[in-house]
Amino acid sequence: MSSLTFTHEMFRKYYAEDFPLNTSVPFIEKREFGFALFENQMVRHKSFRSIEEVKFFLQSFVPCDVYFSCAYYENPTAEMERKNWLGADLIFDIDADHIPTPCERIHDRWVCGNCGFVGRGVMPERCPLCSGEKLSAETWPCEVCLEAAKIEAIKLLDVLQDDFGFSKSELRVFFSGHRGYHVHVECEAVKALDSMARKEIVDYVSGLGLETSLPHVKERSFKKRFPLETVKSFSFGWSRRLTDGLQTFLSSVKEDDLRKLGFRKDAVNVIMQRKDGILRDLYNSGMVHTVRGVGLKTWEKLVKHIATLQSVKIDTVVTTDVHRLIRMPETLNSKTGFKKADVQISAIDDFDPFRDAIAFRKGMVKVRVLDVPKFRIGDETFGPYRDRKVELPTAAALLLVCKGRAEVVENV
Ligand SMILES: [Zn+2]
Ligand SMILES: [Zn+2]
Repeated sequence: MSSLTFTHEMFRKYYAEDFPLNTSVPFIEKREFGFALFENQMVRHKSFRSIEEVKFFLQSFVPCDVYFSCAYYENPTAEMERKNWLGADLIFDIDADHIPTPCERIHDRWVCGNCGFVGRGVMPERCPLCSGEKLSAETWPCEVCLEAAKIEAIKLLDVLQDDFGFSKSELRVFFSGHRGYHVHVECEAVKALDSMARKEIVDYVSGLGLETSLPHVKERSFKKRFPLETVKSFSFGWSRRLTDGLQTFLSSVKEDDLRKLGFRKDAVNVIMQRKDGILRDLYNSGMVHTVRGVGLKTWEKLVKHIATLQSVKIDTVVTTDVHRLIRMPETLNSKTGFKKADVQISAIDDFDPFRDAIAFRKGMVKVRVLDVPKFRIGDETFGPYRDRKVELPTAAALLLVCKGRAEVVENV
């Protein structure tokens, strides 16, 4: 059996037997559906009246990826200009590709489309072997990267609930099935927002244009104590986020962290010696008490760093595009064979993509692995493998085949 036949067969099995009919797609009849087929084709402008109809289509045509529009249309099957846009959900896409992690260099590789040369880490402009420019990056859904993405999702949920006032019932969180998380906001209040309005929300969430140069402190001259923001309330919005963020940062800060930020040695010493006092004052008054030896420039640098830590790393173009097609919940991601899985907001800390997004739990498959880092499915750890034939549980084999790192073989 070829790898493509194997993948196709597993996807067909999933859509025929396991795709849940209680998958929630609000206003399903007003959305446009799009499908990527295994034959490298894209089918768009489809529409369905019920989830049963969707399932029937999925098990008949077995697409490799399934999408629907965040938008609602009067005529979802019409051409773009004639669809008549009625509104759209507010969507956030968090992808590990946008979050710097220390492990990228270990598990991400790139391949030359010309000569097949494989390199690791940052992709060069040209292939060092043949000077070809057709290079493609191959990422890996690793635990560290996915944990980093989850932390961003948790930060985003905090902003959406605390600052924007959305309730849990208006928010849905999903694991994307590959390297990130999707947050959907589904409610009347966001429906009519145009691209510009959505860009404002993006800017707020990602802290773009946030004032970190403490102009209000300069005006009053740098004395005794100052708040991190001009806003009076320290219990709300970015003001709280900066104050809380500074507390969290200082409570576990090491000399090395401060030096990496480019602080002078004496300033580092003073902060390390006086940090308990600074923390106590921050906690009691929400204000920063100035300390001798730490100038305004240093505080500004620190606030800027805290703002970066507190900002949410999202793929901004996804949120501002009011016609965007997004992956449909409970469908399979062809990059992994994992599901786009529902994440309970109240239990997000416990969500484990390598356990909760697994679509296949039975059977073993023999594969020849080209090159793969150590990985986990459920409680079982596999690899690292290099140029080896192994027999793996279906979900593990499918992951490697989907990532192009293994081929199905008949016999080990
Ligand atoms: Zn090459
Ligand atoms: Zn990683």
